[in-house]
Amino acid sequence: MTSQRTRERLIKRLQEQGIINPDVLDVMRTTPRHIFIDEALSHRAYEDSSLPIGFSQTISRPYIVARMSELIISRGSRENVLEVGTGSGYQTAVLARLVGHVNSIERIRPLQDKARKRLSLLKLRNINLRHSDGSMGWKEKAPFDAILSAAAPEEVPEELLEQLSIGGILVIPVGEQEKQQKLHLITRTEDGYDTEIIEDVYFVPLRSGVRTY
Ligand code: SAH
Repeated sequence: MTSQRTRERLIKRLQEQGIINPDVLDVMRTTPRHIFIDEALSHRAYEDSSLPIGFSQTISRPYIVARMSELIISRGSRENVLEVGTGSGYQTAVLARLVGHVNSIERIRPLQDKARKRLSLLKLRNINLRHSDGSMGWKEKAPFDAILSAAAPEEVPEELLEQLSIGGILVIPVGEQEKQQKLHLITRTEDGYDTEIIEDVYFVPLRSGVRTY
């Protein structure tokens, strides 16, 4: 199930859905997704679907990981990046291979612990993980060239906007969980923010506070 053929089929599917950036396709081809999923489900790792990772959370669909990564690197190189919602760590691993440095925040401690172990297997050295509420951003590491949120707020958190550098972008799903969410691409300019709506998406909600369980 983790064979090269299964992975190639996924890459073909991503291309059919409009992913064209060769670096993104290459990283998607060579980053093992099965190590980020519990063994009972790992045979489904190279399907283009989200899967449960516990605590009512999901690992994002490969298509959306590829799409958001493509948006992040499409307009220039990104040195310092913030990810909100580490979850399994899969998107973190993909991003770490495409940008200079990834700072990633998760509010559910056991998920973060698992992600840390899985990421260390890949020996990626340009990642910092933090257990906190990512809607506040990460002030000490700001400003960011890009921020990616893997969880959807109903409104874009002001702190995330403020922690963007000029020319920096925020890629974030916005909207209520039951209703249609829209993926927003927000660029910080010299005198404000430009917003583009990319497509309809479905993400878990961005929640405030932290959990240790
Ligand atoms: N890209 C991840 C997506 C995980 S789902 C993956 O592919 O595995 C989104 C994650 O965001 C969940 O783990 C959830 O706990 C986390 N999350 C939700 N609200 C958050 C917040 N305010 N701060 C940090 N993480 C948050």
